Amino acid sequence: MYDIIIIGAGPAGLTAAIYARRASKSVLVLEALSYGGQIINTPDIENYPAVPHVSGFDFATKVYQQAEALGAEFVFEKAVGIKDSGSTKTVVTTENEYECKAVIIATGSENRKLGLDDEEKLVGRGVSYCATCDGAFYRGKKVAVVGGGNTALEDALYLADIAETVYLIHRRDAFRGDEATVTSLKQRDNVKFVFNSTVTKLIADKRLTSIEVTNKNGEADTIEVNGLFVAVGRIPENQNFAELIKLDEAGYVTAGEDCETNVAGIFAAGDNRTKSVRQLVTAAADGAVAATAAVKFADSLR
Ligand code: NAP
Repeated sequence: MYDIIIIGAGPAGLTAAIYARRASKSVLVLEALSYGGQIINTPDIENYPAVPHVSGFDFATKVYQQAEALGAEFVFEKAVGIKDSGSTKTVVTTENEYECKAVIIATGSENRKLGLDDEEKLVGRGVSYCATCDGAFYRGKKVAVVGGGNTALEDALYLADIAETVYLIHRRDAFRGDEATVTSLKQRDNVKFVFNSTVTKLIADKRLTSIEVTNKNGEADTIEVNGLFVAVGRIPENQNFAELIKLDEAGYVTAGEDCETNVAGIFAAGDNRTKSVRQLVTAAADGAVAATAAVKFADSLR
């Protein structure tokens, strides 16, 4: 029986583990893939206080090591459900069941797909959702990034150092992401902006060779590219808990700034809960808030 089980080892879950261990609670962190979550794909973090520059991988590794050194246990299994019997919660994974007093769901979100024919088939053959993972394969080649948020902007900037040409395709003419990154992109000669347009077709031989792009007037154009980096947002990974935990229409856990869900003793932290600002710093803040509440809940059961 653990005091607290944390589902997800991204910035929110890892911060929660640090706070819960510092409160001397036994902590199990369950993670389906590898530690770090979405931030691990960010080439350069520039907006975390006191850390002017750090790669997402280095940041995540440091937080993971910090949580582990404090005594948090890690098990790499996917959590597929939670059973609530009041004072005891059971977290069900694909392989085991684990009991605890309080649960923090910090599952983050997964990549949104464009929904185009052959999109899945072409992953690893020209289509990618991670510029830092796959960008190096496109040295001196032509690539496109689709999206208008911070991920797309940062991916385009990262790829501008590697690729010959980067087409940044956005469905509107105003970006959602930070102005500072847009300014940096405008200074790059090899970045071409394609506004008011969406990718409507993937054209491939064995690998992606070009994309069809259609503008808001319905005019289609073909752009030759070797790689397409899709950065059109994320979908919260809460489906496995939907029977027990109240979600909003978009699938986010309806938990406020106190991170409390509709079930006593179950908390939500990070990008998977309803909130207006989804940043590294707010994910870490959620981890602290959720862990503090979970510690209090666990103590109340003594
Ligand atoms: P996002 O902010 O939700 O942006 C998604 C973008 O994709 C939007 O520009 C959206 O267009 C576009 N889009 C959505 N569906 C589309 C579709 N089917 N076809 C074409 N375009 C589509 O997602 P994100 O960039 O992944 O960022 C997620 C969160 O993480 C944000 O809060 C972001 O600020 C944060 N983040 C922070 C950092 C950092 O702190 N350094 C780095 C990366 C991400 P519209 O604008 O028209 O809706």
